[in-house]
Amino acid sequence: MKLLVINAGSSSVKYQLYDMTDESVLAKGLVERIGMDSSILTHKPTGKEEVTEVSEILEHTTAIRKVLDKLIDKECGVLASVDEIQAVGHRVVHGGEVFKGSALVTGEVKSEIRRLFDLAPLHNPPAVLGITAAEKNMPGVPQVVAFDTAFHQTMEEKVFLYPIPKVLYKKHHVRRYGAHGTSHEYVSKVAAEYLDRPLEDLKIITCHIGNGGSLTAVKGGVSMDTSMGLTPLEGLMMGTRSGDLDPAVVTFVMNKEELSLSEVNSMLNKHSGLLAISGSSSDMRDITDGMAEGDPNATLAFEMYEYRLRKYIGSYAAAMDGVDVIVFTAGIGENSAVVREKVCENLTYLGVEVDPELNKIRSGEPRRISTPNSKVEVLVIPTNEELMIARDTYRIVQENQ
Ligand code: AMP
Repeated sequence: MKLLVINAGSSSVKYQLYDMTDESVLAKGLVERIGMDSSILTHKPTGKEEVTEVSEILEHTTAIRKVLDKLIDKECGVLASVDEIQAVGHRVVHGGEVFKGSALVTGEVKSEIRRLFDLAPLHNPPAVLGITAAEKNMPGVPQVVAFDTAFHQTMEEKVFLYPIPKVLYKKHHVRRYGAHGTSHEYVSKVAAEYLDRPLEDLKIITCHIGNGGSLTAVKGGVSMDTSMGLTPLEGLMMGTRSGDLDPAVVTFVMNKEELSLSEVNSMLNKHSGLLAISGSSSDMRDITDGMAEGDPNATLAFEMYEYRLRKYIGSYAAAMDGVDVIVFTAGIGENSAVVREKVCENLTYLGVEVDPELNKIRSGEPRRISTPNSKVEVLVIPTNEELMIARDTYRIVQENQ
């Protein structure tokens, strides 16, 4: 079965075409600047040259039609006909409490996703645009939605509730939902396979640290706790997001600086984190370069980032009453040896011991960086959210045939 995985944002559509007979990627690409003067489509067929096309693409239906044109193009195409695509999988950020796993798209499912717009106003509306655009371009082809929150629906009430008046949960669904679930689930499964141990027996802390970042305590294969909350602002210090802080900071600053709701929201989401403390960049590469050059602001940003990350690892070891495996993934987790080194250097009380040479290797494959003596396995596992969505799509379409 060939299937298309789509990740639709407000002005972009990312895609990957899979052949599920061997899970190979036939082509992938990105449409950017949808709705702006000049949209850019970048298409990369596997084994062939990348092509770029600039044109005016005003909305998602046209964007997906252009993608399909590229997939069947004589020069850069990989399919004889669009009819070869037998299913479409979509990434959706928020599944609320309704979706505990991926689901086949029906009218009711789309209505449910719309009802969740309030909880993810920036992310769920474009996902619906992507679904509708795929339906228009490929009528009758089954579609599946995979949610970033679904993996965390196993969290217990004591973990997902905030200690605030319960009426807010009942009336407005205010609770912790988490995010990056597809990634946490994927890397925890790969970790068990890599170690050749049953997932059910393992206590794993998965560190998905990229521009955004979250940690998950995966006990026996299910999410027991995760660091993001009602929105992806809670938890770790991130590229431009603050992560945890005293909620009173918000009202205090709003009062002192006379900020509106949207201004304070923007401050915490776009102008905080590494960017705010370094004063120069949200990118960990710049922070570690700056630190190597002796920049005190970059050094402080790094130290705060590492310290907050390490505290979360400690708290999840406590939550699970131990930890067998720590997994690093996403942009920083997969690429920044110095972040991994500094975090693990200070986890000696857990018996963590990282081999400095193994930690420096870059392979793009799952690998162990801990020593044979380490009491905790430390792994670097490249995440692959698209593959996870493709697998769910394949399974659900098969089940519903
Ligand atoms: P992601 O959101 O998973 O795509 O991760 C993006 C982030 O990964 C960037 O903002 C960088 O901070 C970080 N990153 C990527 N490559 C490296 C690297 N070689 N060293 C340190 N950080 C990196």
